[in-house]
Amino acid sequence: MQASVPRRAIEDHPNPTHSCPLCNCTASSRDDIYCHLLVSHRKSTIAEALLEDLECQR
Ligand SMILES: [Zn+2]
Repeated sequence: MQASVPRRAIEDHPNPTHSCPLCNCTASSRDDIYCHLLVSHRKSTIAEALLEDLECQR
């Protein structure tokens, strides 16, 4: 959900790292982070993180 990042900023980095929003894990591709989220984090943890994010926006 980082749509505000300009595309050029991503292209400036030859090896962009993607970081997990729930822990300090990083990966070289978005897909890797996606897999990491599915494998390493429980759905309840992800749901709680999303709700906390919503609360912060209010
Ligand atoms: Zn993680």
